[in-house]
Amino acid sequence: MSSFDIQSKQYCHTCKIHTNHHIVTKNGEPVQYVEEILEDDDYVYGEVTYAVVQCKGCDTIGFLRIYNDMDNWQYAHRVKEETGKDIDPNDYYKYPEEPKKESAPIPYNHYESKIKFKHLPEYIKELRSEAIKAYKEDLLYLCATGIRMLVEAICKEKGIPEYKKNEDGSLQTYKDGNPIPNSIKWKIDELHKRGFIQESARDILHQVREMGNASAHDIEKHDLRTIRSALETVELILYTIYELPNQKIYERKTKQNPEDMKGSN
Ligand SMILES: [Zn+2]
Repeated sequence: MSSFDIQSKQYCHTCKIHTNHHIVTKNGEPVQYVEEILEDDDYVYGEVTYAVVQCKGCDTIGFLRIYNDMDNWQYAHRVKEETGKDIDPNDYYKYPEEPKKESAPIPYNHYESKIKFKHLPEYIKELRSEAIKAYKEDLLYLCATGIRMLVEAICKEKGIPEYKKNEDGSLQTYKDGNPIPNSIKWKIDELHKRGFIQESARDILHQVREMGNASAHDIEKHDLRTIRSALETVELILYTIYELPNQKIYERKTKQNPEDMKGSN
């Protein structure tokens, strides 16, 4: 190790790994510029070296900024005393830089429906696949919005009134004569009251409704679980409403054993 060797391995953009480097010399002198760091009273506190360096593996030239100060030096000294280990007191900054590790890809949110839908109204079918697509791409806000729209679409299709009504059946209106819409909160409760969904499903839909009221920014990763429950809930609702009435139960005709019939209703 010559005096111009760099103490720690540096990234070489040709070798693509950390390799030994040394400072390039010209006429026996290192090609570098050293700048002292002075305290207020001109006391030398540390130094920064700007050096032209070369990979000892492939000879590629690079540029290295080497920083050292009293704190670094004292720390290295203390480590040496306590453990006997030599540590490099320098901080390095190498050009060209080591490429940043690509951030971990967004986890693929696997979602595979257990239900084969054949009888969904076209509009609901499209909304459903959009919501699932958003979920898979980690677009939680879009997914929550999609689920809300699905719920709205189900309500509309099931005849849950869009607008508030008076007791005589006439529409409640604002002062300007426009009808007052029912809130999605009311509609979700109504889906439950009319027996389309169970209490647990209603509560999940309310959570998603509240999520849709928050900004996209406020939707956290932990909401993924809620969104997933909501998706599954909506799938079940869709199944109950649109597929179940179309199921033909052939099995009953073939099974003659009365034991099999018990409790199977
Ligand atoms: Zn190299």
